[in-house]
Amino acid sequence: VAYHVIGAGRTEKVSQKTAAIGIDVGGASARVALVDLRGRILFQTASPTGLGITGRRLLASLERGARAALRTAAKRDIRVAGVGVGMPAFLDESGRVAGASNLPRVNGTPVGRILEERLGLAVCVENDVSAAACGEYHFGGHRGSSRRMLLLAVGTGVGAGMIVDGRLMRLSHGCLGDPGHVIVDPSGASPCRCGGNGCLEAVASGWALMEQARRLGIKATPGQIFRRARSGDPACTRLARRAAAATGVGLASLSALLEPDTIALGGGVALEAGEPFRRLAARAWRAHAVPFLSRGARVVLARAGAEAGVLGAAALILFENQESAGPYRARA
Ligand SMILES: [Zn+2]
Repeated sequence: VAYHVIGAGRTEKVSQKTAAIGIDVGGASARVALVDLRGRILFQTASPTGLGITGRRLLASLERGARAALRTAAKRDIRVAGVGVGMPAFLDESGRVAGASNLPRVNGTPVGRILEERLGLAVCVENDVSAAACGEYHFGGHRGSSRRMLLLAVGTGVGAGMIVDGRLMRLSHGCLGDPGHVIVDPSGASPCRCGGNGCLEAVASGWALMEQARRLGIKATPGQIFRRARSGDPACTRLARRAAAATGVGLASLSALLEPDTIALGGGVALEAGEPFRRLAARAWRAHAVPFLSRGARVVLARAGAEAGVLGAAALILFENQESAGPYRARA
């Protein structure tokens, strides 16, 4: 039993019968789950999103999912402490969505304020990778063993979130900057979607892997590229190794700034590629990182897997001290 701040200034005893609703909004679908303090998913539902979805339609489907989760909680006599939302976006200081490149028609929507009004529960909105970092820290076994945990999510894009002394670290826009765009290849051969060249995301992300494969005449998803690499295909092996090594080089730069003691590799691409990817990335990181900053640190695979998004969003409510949550927490 622990005490947590729930809502504006109220402290309540949190028992095992407490849960939170975790909402993970992605470019293709939005998932809504009821998650308890041990990270067990008691209920889950999903609805499609996509480039064309408007803020109004997204909110309607999130509200529907949350109400279904609340019905499950009521039946099982579980208290719902609030709703955490991970958005694939920057957030402005009022908690509005700003710069959601995969959901352009959701930009400007005050997701937190509207959900809070409609559901009558405390709502916390964060960048999706920040939320995933929170979930990895609390549900991935890092609490008590890590003071500075960096989650690097290598998926369709590349993002990162950081937990310092148990608290989510935010810089601008509710995020840890945009670490997918640290430079790992200054040769000029890796154009990035940001308009730059040589970014980590332009070498190691899912979209970059597919683009590099396409240039070699290979039509394959990142998962297929790693599977072919495992079965010895030389071109796919080169692509997979290059992505893992670039990830390690990028991590060395991030280590010099942030000095994490634990680096968790998450995201669909890294988790699909698994242990060989982690090993190669860790080797490149070790070779390039400042020794006295990286001594004793380790690179591990994130544990939360496909559930990372909803677990992280729920962890924002269950564990992140909401009074210190900065300007991005929506308040009624
Ligand atoms: Zn870039």
